[in-house]
Order: sequence, then C-alpha cells, then structure tokens
Amino acid sequence: MKTYEQAKEEMIFQVNNLQDVIKFLRENAYYEKICGSCSTKMRLRVNDFRANERKFCNDACRATNQRDKKRLGTYSRQELNKRKQKRDEIKKEIIKLRNEGLTFAKIGTKFNTSRQRVEQIYSKMTKNDS
Ligand SMILES: [Zn+2]
Repeated sequence: MKTYEQAKEEMIFQVNNLQDVIKFLRENAYYEKICGSCSTKMRLRVNDFRANERKFCNDACRATNQRDKKRLGTYSRQELNKRKQKRDEIKKEIIKLRNEGLTFAKIGTKFNTSRQRVEQIYSKMTKNDS
C-alpha cells in the first residue's frame, strides 16, 4: 500500500527530475551560423537572446571586418607604392604647371580638385625644396 507521504515524496522527486531535464534542454539547445569574416561555423545557444545578433565569431573577426569595410589593409605593398608614385607625379605636375604661370584655380580644375588643395600641395612641396 502506498501512503500519502510516499506518493507525495515520489511526485516531488519526479517533478524535480523533470525540472533538471528542462534546465538541461534549455542550456544545451544550439544552432549554427557562419562568421561574417572568417566563415567559421559558430555554435550559438538558442537561449542566449544576444546570440542572434552576433555576426562574428570573436573580436578579432569583428575588427577585421571593420578594416575591410574601410578598405584598409587590403591593398598590397605594390599597389600602395603605385598609388604613391601616382600622387608624386601629380605633385610634380602641379609644380611644373605653377612655374609655367598657371593659376592654382586652373590647376585645380585640371586635376579635379580645389584651388585650396592645389595651393596646399604646392606650398608644402616648395617648402621641402628650400
Ligand atoms: Zn570569425
């Protein structure tokens, strides 16, 4: 025969066991997402309400993505040298045109920039020469 006390104890025991199972299920439900930077598979907890907003697997990947967005660090040394060479050529051309008597405004129009910018480049270049 099962007494009231025994039945009650048994019920509490089973309910507690079930609560542990529920807790386990909540904490161990995972889904997967691909990192927006390194394409690694991320394992995210369903129960973590912030996980859904995560786009990157770690801080380094987030930083890399920011850099890529600003297009920094993506050019090769060769490409950077080429760009610098081009800028230097333009600077030399500005000096040459100015010495030929062109106004800063006209030089600016030629290089699709402002008179102020040309003047700035010119004064910086001629200052370095002397
Ligand atoms: Zn990553």
